[in-house]
Amino acid sequence: MAGSFYTVACPDCENEQIVFGKAASEVACAVCGHTLAVPTGGKAQIEGEVVETVEAR
Ligand SMILES: [Zn+2]
Repeated sequence: MAGSFYTVACPDCENEQIVFGKAASEVACAVCGHTLAVPTGGKAQIEGEVVETVEAR
């Protein structure tokens, strides 16, 4: 769904981070710098494991 947030687990260091589902810029892991989301013009492509989907309120 548009506007959702995702909790994404980094495949390298297992840090869990909130990523906006429509991120307009690349999102990197705050701990190790691994790319977690890549903007595609619409929905971001999530590069890690989605642990949880958090609906926008
Ligand atoms: Zn990481």
